[in-house]
Amino acid sequence: MPEPLRSYVAGEWRAGTATLEDVNPARPSEVVAEVQAADAALAEEAITAARAAFPAWRDTPAPARGEILRRAADLLEARAEDVGRDLAREEGKTLAEAIGETRRAVAILRYYAGQTLEPDGETYPSASRSTFLYARREPVGVVLAITPWNFPIAIPAWKLAPALAYGNCVVWKPAELVPLTAVHFTRAFADAGLPAGVLGVVLGRSGDVGATLLAGPVEAVTFTGSNEVGRRLQLEAIARGAKVQLELGGKNPAVVLADADLDLAAEQVARGAFLSAGQKCTATSRVIVERAVLEPLAERLVEHARGWRLGDPLDPRTVVGPLASPAQLERVAGYLDGARRDGGTALAGGGPAAIDGGYYMQPTVLAGLGPESAVVREEVFGPVAALLPADSYADAVDAANDTPFGLSAAVFTRDLGRALRFAKDVRAGVVKVNQESAGLELHVPFGGTKASSSGSREQGKAAREFFTEWKTVYVD
Ligand code: NAD
Repeated sequence: MPEPLRSYVAGEWRAGTATLEDVNPARPSEVVAEVQAADAALAEEAITAARAAFPAWRDTPAPARGEILRRAADLLEARAEDVGRDLAREEGKTLAEAIGETRRAVAILRYYAGQTLEPDGETYPSASRSTFLYARREPVGVVLAITPWNFPIAIPAWKLAPALAYGNCVVWKPAELVPLTAVHFTRAFADAGLPAGVLGVVLGRSGDVGATLLAGPVEAVTFTGSNEVGRRLQLEAIARGAKVQLELGGKNPAVVLADADLDLAAEQVARGAFLSAGQKCTATSRVIVERAVLEPLAERLVEHARGWRLGDPLDPRTVVGPLASPAQLERVAGYLDGARRDGGTALAGGGPAAIDGGYYMQPTVLAGLGPESAVVREEVFGPVAALLPADSYADAVDAANDTPFGLSAAVFTRDLGRALRFAKDVRAGVVKVNQESAGLELHVPFGGTKASSSGSREQGKAAREFFTEWKTVYVD
């Protein structure tokens, strides 16, 4: 067992008052790490340290900030296999996915290191002959970042890297289920020479430290997680005058039109629905299929669901690992019970799988459900795809849009006109044509419409909008 994990405050690793266990969801008897969890006082200290560090970090030349990010990227890259292994052990995604995610974090750090060399403002013609008029982007101040467990290094990377690159200080509260990955990520910054206080990392129960962090003097809150928690935090943050960005849930449709390549569609839908055990905000959960191809598509999808190997994330043969926690298993099993009560049938899967006492759920394909069933309306966050027939293109688009969410959507067709029309008609922040609904590139805007997001987009150059504000200067 490694040393107990500690928070990182004012450039030091600091013990807290409570001890928490970080367990392996594939084998819950295995404790991956112990956490000396922070209390409210330590959370407050992290904010105080960030405020103290802000003026010097803001005034550090942007390219010098970029150099530190680049060094952190190099260190993380050298450690990617170890970090990925620990990520897989505490979160449950497969080793290949976990190492891939770590490398994604490396790439994100490098991208924002590069952004520190980009122009940071604009000049304008002035109405006055004697005035030089310009506007530049400045950091907002201290940012509170609150992140979920399902992408324990990529999501923190796409919040922390731009926040730091643009000159903000950050206090980060990672999810309780993934403290070891958080410590690995933090170490990369610490070892890269990030000045003390610029990044504070508070490991602890959200109930103990979350309220303190939110009540603290921060200028901005960037949150990714559930709608329930996000909306609550949004109200509190706004009441305190902080700027807020929320990335929340999804109920992402894949529309399969009658002219689609069905082998491709089934394979991509399966990837979107079952990889990472469906625990992605962009996972496919509603498969809306034109009636003419419903049966052949269902057959192919069922074949994938039954054929994908479930097992230990560290076993290279494993395609789908366990869910991340007992609460997740209970939640997904509850939706499947509800589906049965609503008259649905599981064409594949349909319940947990008994492997080493882990929190495994079988990849599941549901049929025979109406649009009002909870499993069709609400975010399940598990490897569950519900098949829904459509009578026409228009019917399929209506079904795709019949949700409070609007994160990602996929369409499968050989007709380019239809594909482009779908891209216009569907209300989602991300649209994929002949590709799974999950899977993002790092240099383009990411976020959703309707209940899926609030505030400006993340990733790529779009991140600048949230982490900076304009200053307009008139020089006479
Ligand atoms: P969650 O809302 O339970 O927790 C998210 C974070 O908020 C965690 O760090 C948690 O500790 C913290 N938190 C909880 N209560 C808090 C409080 N009162 N004060 C301060 N912090 C608090 O979500 P989760 O279970 O970790 O993640 C799953 C959810 O995240 C899903 O709904 C999923 O769709 C969503 N998600 C969205 C995106 C996106 O980009 N849209 C990406 C990944 C995950």
